[in-house]
Amino acid sequence: MGIAINEAVEIWDSAKEELKKVVPEASYPWIMPLEAAGFENDKLTLITGASFAVQIIRKFHYKQIMDALKSVVGREIKFDIIVDSKKTEELKKQTEKINKKYFDKETRERAMNNLAIMQSAANLNLKYKFENFVVGENNKMAHAVALQVAKDPCKKINPLFIYGGSGLGKTHLMQAIGHYIITHFPKLKIRYIKTEEYVNELINNLRMGGNSNDRMEKFRQKYRNVDVLLIDDIQFVESKTRTMEEIFHTFDTLYNKGKQIVITSDRLPKDIPTLTDRLRTRFEMGIVVDLQPPDFETRIAILKNLAAQERIEFPDDVCEYISKNFCDNVRELEGVFNKVSAFASISGVPVTLEFAKSTLKCEENKKKITIDEIAKVCAEYYNVTVKDLKSTQRSQAISQARQVAVYLTRETTGMSYVNIGAYFEKKHPTMLFSYEKIKKELITERRLREDLREIKQALKLEGQG
Ligand code: ADP
Ligand code: MG
Repeated sequence: MGIAINEAVEIWDSAKEELKKVVPEASYPWIMPLEAAGFENDKLTLITGASFAVQIIRKFHYKQIMDALKSVVGREIKFDIIVDSKKTEELKKQTEKINKKYFDKETRERAMNNLAIMQSAANLNLKYKFENFVVGENNKMAHAVALQVAKDPCKKINPLFIYGGSGLGKTHLMQAIGHYIITHFPKLKIRYIKTEEYVNELINNLRMGGNSNDRMEKFRQKYRNVDVLLIDDIQFVESKTRTMEEIFHTFDTLYNKGKQIVITSDRLPKDIPTLTDRLRTRFEMGIVVDLQPPDFETRIAILKNLAAQERIEFPDDVCEYISKNFCDNVRELEGVFNKVSAFASISGVPVTLEFAKSTLKCEENKKKITIDEIAKVCAEYYNVTVKDLKSTQRSQAISQARQVAVYLTRETTGMSYVNIGAYFEKKHPTMLFSYEKIKKELITERRLREDLREIKQALKLEGQG
């Protein structure tokens, strides 16, 4: 299996010719430098050096590119843009250099193939490396353990299970392990897979001929014949018996051979309802680490890091302003950064506090508040601790504080019950129940309304419903 680079380049070159007919010249700087990196499963992978180009293209040129690709290939295909400030080539050259020095030709080829497989099959983002991962109180432990696995794969920590809410860096950390191993242990064969894609692939294979054929065997080998398997977003696994069986056997085959397994999920194994017990136990066998939302300091460090990567000046007061107002997760923070930097670059002005404020005006007005802040204030108000809220204790005060926190989180952040549940370490029906209960009680209980008013005041949410 190799990466279809040539095909990708051909498609993209022709598509660019088509695009020149419809795209205004002002947009050429975003589109024309995109490089084709692979074409697989009817998806073209493009690489850019500027992350804000992705937003601009998605927003203004998505359909034009889709149409151009369709007219070139003759059918509808998808495309994906990967941000890589240093570009693929550089990494390839670097890897090659290391390899040449230490390894024979066959090993080198396999290492290059690893890279290609990772990049194409996995949409591996070259930005997702340890170098670009900002470490703070919220992710210190997860980072340390991930680095340990990367430095010493297939040894003590197996499997590694990373969990945390959306946009907190699970995929980043997991792929960082992959990158590190590729460059430092070129002999090891790595495969990254999104659970959804794995399940789809499995179902397709089963549909096309059941258990005994070559297809199925090939499929199995693809995942069982590796040294490091990275499985992203396991919460999307289906409870279908066949899926469970396959994953179970893949896990056991690898585990018994002493191969490294890394899994991510938005919640703990015990809170993934579709998992069978024996898989759950296996996932809990190694080390389980979590990622929490970044604190204020870490948010600033992340912004500074992004600014350095993009070589754009982001003054301290701008970083502070953004960190104060956008705190849910790193993905959101990046979105805000991209918006400000793109607008500044388009209008050719430096990023100042005034500029950032006016660019982000509408978002800021909806004042963002995090589940963490809500939990803290609610716990404090009812004289309990956040740890209590996450525990299974059901004393009157703890239950009340927890339910109010769930209600407020849902109301003010719109977070899903699944994610709220992940935070409080509870199942999502319990979260839904808490929300409904408070909602009902608010109608009849004046005391509760008073509590809520005071809590909102503490959160500076008053006047927002
Ligand atoms: P998840 O998989 O948990 O939903 P991702 O790994 O996709 O989250 O992270 C979302 C975005 O935030 C990515 O662009 C990632 O690079 C960035 N990110 C997350 N955590 C960090 C961090 N600690 N330092 C730098 N960037 C981060
Ligand atoms: Mg992810």
